[in-house]
Amino acid sequence: MIRIVSAILIAAASASCVKAAPERQIVDDAAAALGGRDRVVAVKTLVIEGTGTNGNMGQDMTMDAASQAFQLSDYKRTIDVAGSRSRIEQTRTPNFPYFQGQQPQKQVIGVDGDVGYTVAANGTAARMANAAAKDRRADMFHHPLTIVRAALDPAAKLANPREANSQRVVDVTTANGLQFTLAIDGSTKLPTRVVSMTDNTNLGDVAVETTFDDYQNVDGLKLPAHLTTKTDKYLTADIRATRQTIDGNAGDLSAPAAAASAPAIAGPPPATVTAEELAKGVWFLAGQSHHSVLVEFGDHLMLIEAPQNDTRALAVIAKAKELRPGKPLTQVVNTHHHFDHSGGLRAAVSEGLAIITHKLNTAFYQDAMARAHTIVPDALAKNPKPAKIEPVDEESTLQDATMTVNLYHIARSPHADTLLMAYLPKQRILVEADVFSPGSAVHPYEANLVENIRSRKLQVDRIVPIHGTVVPFAELLKTQTTATH
Ligand SMILES: [Zn+2]
Repeated sequence: MIRIVSAILIAAASASCVKAAPERQIVDDAAAALGGRDRVVAVKTLVIEGTGTNGNMGQDMTMDAASQAFQLSDYKRTIDVAGSRSRIEQTRTPNFPYFQGQQPQKQVIGVDGDVGYTVAANGTAARMANAAAKDRRADMFHHPLTIVRAALDPAAKLANPREANSQRVVDVTTANGLQFTLAIDGSTKLPTRVVSMTDNTNLGDVAVETTFDDYQNVDGLKLPAHLTTKTDKYLTADIRATRQTIDGNAGDLSAPAAAASAPAIAGPPPATVTAEELAKGVWFLAGQSHHSVLVEFGDHLMLIEAPQNDTRALAVIAKAKELRPGKPLTQVVNTHHHFDHSGGLRAAVSEGLAIITHKLNTAFYQDAMARAHTIVPDALAKNPKPAKIEPVDEESTLQDATMTVNLYHIARSPHADTLLMAYLPKQRILVEADVFSPGSAVHPYEANLVENIRSRKLQVDRIVPIHGTVVPFAELLKTQTTATH
């Protein structure tokens, strides 16, 4: 009897060794390819040093352009594999005229448990918003070592094993509830990519995918020397490791005290909207970093700019309705496609506004207004409406008996190909975004703006900027006589 029981136990044990569940087999194969389960589990810290680029998603010349990038130097990504902490330190230099200047910027971005943080060049640490911290936590597992280690944890859930393009794919829910898709090469068994889903204000539900290649031997492990990350279809990071260190000196990865002790940030700050009547029927709606302008026609209102996010855009729209309660707000002029200037357009559509924008943005906005926002449902997801998009080519005039607004494409701007400026000929007011922000230390776009104003023969008394304060036209000209940038 004893012998029979033993035989059954031995048979069961050997069967489980020979044939794990397919989802488990993918993870086991990946661990074996990386250097063996024991070696993978024993790793405490990983330091990746190298070079690379960051893309400029949502801030390039058009949505589809990829000419702009930040060159990375002194790149260092440190992961405390067991301690759930990581930090990226890098110096990034834009390859394009940048409105904060072209000087290299040192960046420190980290996460320690639930606390995400940045450290400014002057050493000041700040806590990140919760959503950004969650993205940083997910980013920690966008590496073969960390995702496979997390998948080996008995508390992890593995599901949906499948094959795709000669890769084997498995869904991994980590012990702390983060969800990933891991793919391994069908023949080498080395991880080829990790995917996780997140919310993007402008794009909605997006896949963040990191692909791995150029594996090399490091201290008994195989590690990729080339890591490429895309958010949706946009390249956000391309890193080449020149030195990788296992269990070396990882430094102190704990969150700086100022960030750790700061309260959690659940969302954007509440909007503050001030209203200043610049002329009859023209209001400057300011209060925070991104302003809007409200224009009154005989039978309707028009907004210029729905920036940032639902919070800002809905507050600006509410202020417009408060200023002129009897008149419908029907249109919004979008100055350009950059994410901080278009992040409120979905909210505007949810309020029934038509979008007036440069024609190069039409396809992107048609897509953006229709995209799924299930991870963080926004105003348009909760109140779906069809988007009306009115494209502008070189110029367009909006006019009735009481008001005239001329929209002009800002030709050849080094800031974006999709820029519109709004000129109110009677009030001699020019509304523009980003190409002249009064108070800015550098002026890379102003010469082009002056050229556009002159070639259109516009008579401008006041500049009404989307960033900064309303100033006389002379302030713009001053940037051309004193600026040395
Ligand atoms: Zn911009």
